[in-house]
Amino acid sequence: MALIVQKYGGSSVADAESIKRVAKRIVDTRRAGHDVVVAVSAMGDTTDELLDLANEVAPIPAPRELDMLLSSGERISMALLAMAIHSMGFEARSFTGSQAGMITDSQHGAARIVDVTPVRLREALDEGAIVIVAGFQGFNRDTRDITTLGRGGSDTTAVALAAALGADVCEIYSDVDGIFTADPRVIPKAQKLDHVSTEEMLELAANGAKVLYIRAVEYARRHGVLIHARSTFSSAEGTYVLGEGMKNPREAEGAVMEEPIVAGVATDFSHAKITVAGVPDVPGKAAEIFKIVAKSGANVDMIVQNVSATGRTDISFTVPKADAAAALKALAAEQNEVGFQNLVHDDQIGKLSVVGAGMRTHSGVSATLFEALSAGGINIEMISTSEIRISVVLRGDDLAEAARTVHTAYGLDGDSDVTVHAGTGR
Ligand code: ASP
Ligand code: MG
Repeated sequence: MALIVQKYGGSSVADAESIKRVAKRIVDTRRAGHDVVVAVSAMGDTTDELLDLANEVAPIPAPRELDMLLSSGERISMALLAMAIHSMGFEARSFTGSQAGMITDSQHGAARIVDVTPVRLREALDEGAIVIVAGFQGFNRDTRDITTLGRGGSDTTAVALAAALGADVCEIYSDVDGIFTADPRVIPKAQKLDHVSTEEMLELAANGAKVLYIRAVEYARRHGVLIHARSTFSSAEGTYVLGEGMKNPREAEGAVMEEPIVAGVATDFSHAKITVAGVPDVPGKAAEIFKIVAKSGANVDMIVQNVSATGRTDISFTVPKADAAAALKALAAEQNEVGFQNLVHDDQIGKLSVVGAGMRTHSGVSATLFEALSAGGINIEMISTSEIRISVVLRGDDLAEAARTVHTAYGLDGDSDVTVHAGTGR
């Protein structure tokens, strides 16, 4: 008998029919003899609808009240799910984030979990009940107010519950089958991964993969939680996300696991490039520029500085498209101070990243990437690397084609196309 935490995303509980299907899945797990704790998201697009509603009554909704409002979405789904389980003859109890002991800091809309005290959940489990917890929300002890964890926060709720309860596995259910070597909507020959390491998953998530939220994966890595990302709509196994020293459950069953050098190819259209042209090539200018950008709230991803022949240089960097306007405005205001000549904004870029822990020990990984791009006649504008990742910035129009070429070059193509069920991965 195991303790299993399951998380169901909004698309898995979008209507009454779906809730009943999820209830059945939970009951089946219970019938197999396991203790079950469920973290559930709000039904379908409820959170977006509540946000729209808030914006209709107030241009800038008060953060405390917004969390009060948004946290109600998960209370609806948790209660309905518990009712559906009852009607199948099983005992289930739903709990809000604060009842579940999800203690956070006080930052409304982006609260961080600081402690989990699942006393009531343990009691319910001991009494044989299935436990249902509202995802995405917590409680701050100082302000005594309800908080939310940021969009997609239910993944983090599930992982935090799994850590606090010492669960054997945290199953994250969504409308996609697991983690793929690439987004199947971009690369139909992408293959589902049997497993991926937490460090690879973090790089993939940070570079455009949307299946799992970074904060949940970080939490899992810190607390040694085994994640199994899988589909609500099929019984097939999904992808295991393995922390350091963690054993793949399927390997224990005798399967031989070959470690690929490259785990996946991620694509990201969400960034824009800003070039600060004609910057005086003297010490301190980069510091000035990036201090201004940081103060604007923009989150810088890649940076390149060109060589200077004339005593002036160009510095280019990428930021999320949503942050670009603020960064440009802040820089323009300091143009004379910094002494650069002009600013160029380019939001037609795409980022391609190749991720794999095998890069540490294998040479020639980057050569394969550059050869594939060169054979495809694709121009590279920026390059950055980490120990287990190589990223390049390209024209946005070239990104899909480039990703397909690179996927093939690393031998990642499957034999047949993936069937994509219009899923969002949530
Ligand atoms: N309902 C919240 C959202 O849509 C949390 C979640 O789905 O994980 O962001
Ligand atoms: Mg949602």
